[in-house]
Amino acid sequence: MKNAVVLVSGGMDSAVVLAMARAQGFNVYALSVQYGQRHTSELDAAARVAKELGAAAHKVVNVDLRSIGGSALTDDIDVPEAGGAGIPVTYVPARNTIMLSVALGWAEVLGAADIFCGVNAVDYSGYPDCRPDFIEAFQALANLATKAGVEGAGIKVHAPLQFLSKADIVREGVALGVDFGSTVSCYNADAAGKACGHCDACRLRADGFVDAGVADPTHYA
Ligand code: ZN
Repeated sequence: MKNAVVLVSGGMDSAVVLAMARAQGFNVYALSVQYGQRHTSELDAAARVAKELGAAAHKVVNVDLRSIGGSALTDDIDVPEAGGAGIPVTYVPARNTIMLSVALGWAEVLGAADIFCGVNAVDYSGYPDCRPDFIEAFQALANLATKAGVEGAGIKVHAPLQFLSKADIVREGVALGVDFGSTVSCYNADAAGKACGHCDACRLRADGFVDAGVADPTHYA
């Protein structure tokens, strides 16, 4: 079996990606980055998801983005209610570049040529590092930057949810047996992982269940 590194945040999207990687026959090494997010309940969720969906291992790497701040998720800035124009304050500066870089390093150590992430460019918050051009550019970088890229099989960055709606993601997850009740998407979740129901992440997630015609198993506060 081929090894793959899958970035797992604890949210619904990356849970579905993990299940998709398993369904494609990969031996999955789940990676979560503790970047100083407002709560750790999403990391608890990531550990749960990795176990439930059969990851071979789950690693949490600490990269303290709170020390640079600049986001409602990593600084003393309130998380807004859903809506509003432009790139929202929940954008974490360079987060996906940093997380994919950690995944790239671990992939090289494991001899994995495949990295999976859950970025989505349809029902999303407008973050620049969720766009298809970004994923393509990061893959080019990965192949320039590593021994695996220069001498080995090369690195492929998979973003299988890129062009799916939230409803599509829900349907895919249901088909693959993902227990969405184990996942936490809310930016303001409490210590137990209960969702606020009002933030952008909650709104996108709730709409996805409605549009898919699937009962919403989210634990709300
Ligand atoms: Zn929320």
